[in-house]
Amino acid sequence: SGSGGSITATLFPGDGIGPEIAASVKQIFKAAGVPIEWEEHYVGTTLDPKTGSFVTYDSMESVRKYGIGLKGPMATPIGKGHKSLNLTLRKELGLYANVRPCLSIPGYKTRYDNVDLVTIRENTEGEYSGLEHQVVKGVVESLKIITRQASMRVAEYAFHYAKTNGRKRVSAIHKANIMKKTDGLFLQCCREVAEQNPEIVYEEVIIDNCCMMLVKNPALFDVLVMPNLYGDIISDLCAGLIGGLGLTPSGNIGDNGLALMEAVHGTAPDIAGKNKANPTALLLSAVMMLRHLNMNEQAEKIQSAVLKTIEEGKYLTGDLGGNAGTTEYTNAVCEKL
Ligand code: NAD
Repeated sequence: SGSGGSITATLFPGDGIGPEIAASVKQIFKAAGVPIEWEEHYVGTTLDPKTGSFVTYDSMESVRKYGIGLKGPMATPIGKGHKSLNLTLRKELGLYANVRPCLSIPGYKTRYDNVDLVTIRENTEGEYSGLEHQVVKGVVESLKIITRQASMRVAEYAFHYAKTNGRKRVSAIHKANIMKKTDGLFLQCCREVAEQNPEIVYEEVIIDNCCMMLVKNPALFDVLVMPNLYGDIISDLCAGLIGGLGLTPSGNIGDNGLALMEAVHGTAPDIAGKNKANPTALLLSAVMMLRHLNMNEQAEKIQSAVLKTIEEGKYLTGDLGGNAGTTEYTNAVCEKL
């Protein structure tokens, strides 16, 4: 924690529109009187020998020290011989779960008005273990790894999230009818954790059926937990249900309960530096950060100011069909506070 009873959090403004939307978050947090002090870190311009990446060791130490951080989008430098930024973050910080709340935004019309669900994706193994090889010419093999350890911790996080966020139900998404051993183990772990948490309703839904239910009626779901590949696909499907990546926040949960929240979108180089970026996704990621810190009152206050500003529709950024700049939208949110 920082000085005077405040909490210190690491902030990566990032590249492209990152610094503009990060400035918006800082301004809104100040207006809401949130007792957070930011320690800012940028991606380096040279390889850090300790991380093998442009992500600096100092910035990783900062997240490990404070246990909480907010990250703007980062442009992956082109060239060989270094690890990707996101992979470095995931490995250095042990980010094992990706969390995405998908909430309908009143006033921003999409196919559904009543989406309020959360996807929780296992982020370290499954089909993305990177174990692919050629057996003989014309035959390749990819290994899907599921471990009890990784399945238990993501299942435990899903139930923890449900309990601490007033959620009622957890659905485990799987294909254990075909992938009997791998998805079977994943489900077994979810069941064990469900038994420890009888106050949360638990169900199992096969992935194909889940897709059909999601597009027919997303209100059928509350919290969804799933292995890596299914989570990658379903989380983007759910972002589409509420209007796309520009409005969608996310959180990455890592070792010892640390959390690094980030917007789902990229650096938007086409509009960078033009005061056109929509800061909503990063702002809602910052709201997730407050909830993670149990600062629920401030989280609610900021979220409702954001939703009201969008619902009124007077100060919308270009991506939402308006012509307000980042700063006008930000000022409008501050006024609501
Ligand atoms: P992008 O998300 O940056 O942009 C896609 C489109 O959406 C663009 O037209 C952009 O203007 C628009 N857009 C995105 N966010 C917006 C916002 N907040 N407000 C208004 N409009 C917004 O995707 P891209 O063009 O594929 O990627 C650009 C760069 O971002 C690449 O270098 C990529 O590696 C990086 N990237 C980083 C992350 C991350 O750090 N997590 C994620 C995705 C992409």
